[in-house]
Amino acid sequence: MLKRQIVAPPEHLYPPDEWRIVEARWSPSYADRAETIFALSNGYVGVRGTLEEGFPSLAPATFVNGFHETWPITYAEEAYGLARVGQTMVNVPDATVIELFVDDEPLYLPTARMKHYRRVLDMREGTLRRELCWSTPAGKHVTVRSCRVVSFEHRHLVAVSYEVTVDHPAPVAIVSHLVNRMDGNHSDEPRPRKVLDPRLGRRFDHRVLENRLAADRDGRMLLGYETAHSHMTLAVGVHHVVETTANHRLEMVVAGDDSQAALTAEVQPGEPIRIVKYATYQTSRRAPPGDLAARCERTLDRTVEDGFDALLDCQRMNLDRFWDRADVVVEDRRQGERIQQAVRWNLFQLAQASWRAEGGGIPAKGLTGAAYDGHYFWDTEAYVLPFLAYTQPRIARNLLRFRHGMLPKARERAAMLDLRGALFPWRTINGDESSANYQAGTAQFHLNAGIAHAVSRYVEARGDVGFLAEVGAEILVETARMWEDLGFYGEDGDFHIHGVTGPDEYTTVVNDNAFTNLMARHNLSYAASAVRRLRDERPDVHHALAYELGLDPAEVEAWERAAAAMHIPYDEERGITPQDDSFLEREVWDLEGTPAEQFPLLLHFHPLVIYRHQVLKQADVVMAMFLLGDEFTIEQKRRNFDYYDPLTTGDSSLSAGIQSIVASELGDERRAVRYFDHALLMDLADVAGTVSDGVHVASAAGAWMALVFGFGGVRNVDGHLRIDPSLPRHVERLAYSLRVHDRQIRVDLTHRHERYLLDEGDPFEVTVRGTRRRLVAGEPVEVPVPVAAG
Ligand code: BGC
Repeated sequence: MLKRQIVAPPEHLYPPDEWRIVEARWSPSYADRAETIFALSNGYVGVRGTLEEGFPSLAPATFVNGFHETWPITYAEEAYGLARVGQTMVNVPDATVIELFVDDEPLYLPTARMKHYRRVLDMREGTLRRELCWSTPAGKHVTVRSCRVVSFEHRHLVAVSYEVTVDHPAPVAIVSHLVNRMDGNHSDEPRPRKVLDPRLGRRFDHRVLENRLAADRDGRMLLGYETAHSHMTLAVGVHHVVETTANHRLEMVVAGDDSQAALTAEVQPGEPIRIVKYATYQTSRRAPPGDLAARCERTLDRTVEDGFDALLDCQRMNLDRFWDRADVVVEDRRQGERIQQAVRWNLFQLAQASWRAEGGGIPAKGLTGAAYDGHYFWDTEAYVLPFLAYTQPRIARNLLRFRHGMLPKARERAAMLDLRGALFPWRTINGDESSANYQAGTAQFHLNAGIAHAVSRYVEARGDVGFLAEVGAEILVETARMWEDLGFYGEDGDFHIHGVTGPDEYTTVVNDNAFTNLMARHNLSYAASAVRRLRDERPDVHHALAYELGLDPAEVEAWERAAAAMHIPYDEERGITPQDDSFLEREVWDLEGTPAEQFPLLLHFHPLVIYRHQVLKQADVVMAMFLLGDEFTIEQKRRNFDYYDPLTTGDSSLSAGIQSIVASELGDERRAVRYFDHALLMDLADVAGTVSDGVHVASAAGAWMALVFGFGGVRNVDGHLRIDPSLPRHVERLAYSLRVHDRQIRVDLTHRHERYLLDEGDPFEVTVRGTRRRLVAGEPVEVPVPVAAG
């Protein structure tokens, strides 16, 4: 049940375009959304889509993945084991700001007379360009062309090219800033706080970035900082290159909170003046700021010498690689280019969130907003990882390795909760649990099984045990241990898991949440089979694992016993899977009668009101039916879907994509399309009303999954690929690619015929619409679509 309407931005502001998002007019009423929509990021560093001038701006920010401040969490009532230390991603100094003065008049968008304006996010080039012609109060025409890049090639680099041309001689000043916004109010219209919204990032009342270094080294700005509490270090280096034939001066002032380089010149018509700004960020938990500054210098030496055009070429090359594997072509009769544009924007967000995230995770908002404090949740493994496993396995592997790096802390956390094995934190940056809401946070034990499931998905997509040997098995063993200890055998002989919260955060701390038990069962049995597989195929690795983790065969048998005895709730009368053992006894929330303005419920009702009702924030049993589809018959799926769908608010953006996939599988085209549209337009049409707080990364991944797993019908069953497409009537063509077992498979679907092509590599078998097909490199398999399916 969806109460929210999709209201797409007007075409005169954002015209449809397959590869670009074009802002044809600057509009104050869209400015806050645009800061997210036009944000750039490479997964390591991200900048919000604020204007070059730096103002007006609502939440201007630059983020470096994982760079955070800590703070003591205080509870009115203490309890043992609650999370003690909060973590919040820091807004690092902003290098995007470049002010322009002509005849000493500032360019200020809200009041400037514009002859022409266009801001373009180009998703193939990976650039944010702006071109405008400003008619100054003195009647001169000033053309400003700028181009902003967050480099996919040079992980630490943000660069801006800013060029000014005039039609009459004029004194021009271009003032480039590096602004510490974290510790000062550098937004001219501070956004009123949505007071009760727990999803927003924390604001600090102490100075966060303590200045450790401020130097002008041969015309280069070098700044160093240390965070007050977490003691992380940061260095920023900025280098300016001026290109003009006009006489000019460049003067620099380097200071902790606002460094400036002012370029002044008497500019003649036809004599452009251009400044290219290279900014580089380095952070560390150990290295002193001075060392980081030296690293910044090295990046600057290299990239400045190569120049801006080389940077653009590299950007394009990286994105060509991304799109070659990730692009999804959708020809949709309803809104043609609009849909394609939205699909690409969502995929581009996934590239931006992950491409250079190595050594870090993927925050819920990527690096496009401060909401959720820059924390990593299950969103990474359950949503983003499937996309990456089938399109960019290298990145998927890095993310799982990063999770593996959290094992020592996860072991400590398990011990604190009286458990064996490892318990990964519900939300974190540095591996420590940072959720102060244990009911809807720490109690979501299922995240552990989600990580194990992601390991299995990655191994299936890659088709080798290498990853299990590397780090996968250790994750599996420690999570399986945790489940076996958390659960217990009841008098009925079943294995029960009590006191947990499933994905649906509107029902907390319950017994035998079906999703959790199913996922835990998968975790336990997959861990057992992985250990056996290693024993048979890689005895050396198995031996080392058993030694290091103190693993004995009896333990593995115990996991299998628990998996076999796992209690999965079932309601005979209704023939459905209850979300947990008491869910069906609760009062049903009257969603029909709840006015649209009372959503999301979490902002309008006390948790106790929500918790005592049958009402869902997001897919729970339905999520299980997607992740573990083979555990349900199609009839069960239908009954479950029909039962839960009217109770699901979709108050979490993680829901719609999954509901769409399951609706597709059930042949419910109407709902499949409706939910797909919600996931797809979550941000571009601001469905949840929170786009200004950052991109909903999991929803973007949900849109990909709805296309590929939903309409595209892809499933991986024990390493074997099954494809059962079901294109909605108005989708005339859907084409996507999958990277499986080191091979590239291209799928091209219409209502009349389908084409399956293996690009290269050894032959590969897939099952298409129930029939096994052997794909041989370069020989497309054409499959006519049965009339009933077309
Ligand atoms: C959802 C969680 C999700 C988190 C971060 C919450 O609103 O309920 O499932 O992990 O947002 O995206």
